[in-house]
Amino acid sequence: MLRFHRTPPVLPWLFPKVWWRRPVQDKTIFLTFDDGPIPEVTPFVLQQLAQHQAKATFFCVGENLVRHPEIARQVLAQGHLLANHTHQHVKAWKTSPQAYLQQVHQCQAELEKVGRNLSDKKLFRPPHGQLTRQHVRILSPEYQIVMWSALTYDFDATLSPEKCLAKALEIIKPGAVVVLHDSLKAERNLRFVLPRLLHHFSGLGYAFKTL
Ligand SMILES: [Zn+2]
Repeated sequence: MLRFHRTPPVLPWLFPKVWWRRPVQDKTIFLTFDDGPIPEVTPFVLQQLAQHQAKATFFCVGENLVRHPEIARQVLAQGHLLANHTHQHVKAWKTSPQAYLQQVHQCQAELEKVGRNLSDKKLFRPPHGQLTRQHVRILSPEYQIVMWSALTYDFDATLSPEKCLAKALEIIKPGAVVVLHDSLKAERNLRFVLPRLLHHFSGLGYAFKTL
């Protein structure tokens, strides 16, 4: 399988309003966790982040916010950012722009029930990284779309935890927006990779911040 660990260079050019890597002057990394919150994995992530005074951004699925609002409140209480990943993890290539916007609004309504973010920015990441120009156009007035610069493939069960970690350490640079998942699919790799990734980059003097 061909894996694009780094963002293919043509994409930022196609979608200039979208965030990929962030401009930074110092050793900052932006960790992001997609698809939660869930009780099996998200509390583990919070505990690991706390050990390194690391902050992160959680792109939540609306349905998971409905099921586990107490975990989402814990994420906020620990100084992390909650962000939008649609209500039911829908694919842009299979959903009309109008129906897609409804999914995003519905997730945003659930986020607002949980509580207020420190930041007023409405950050949104499309499930599966799927976007079209039409979807970008309809979302952009209200939402800041966030993609990534480093994809760990933690969700890929055919990738060993050791390889997943080695690749992550190789592709993460200052200003990187890193995709990880607080999901059951990614759990095995995440439990191995996250503590080591935090330890490695903390040791090099990096700070982990919210977007
Ligand atoms: Zn997702």
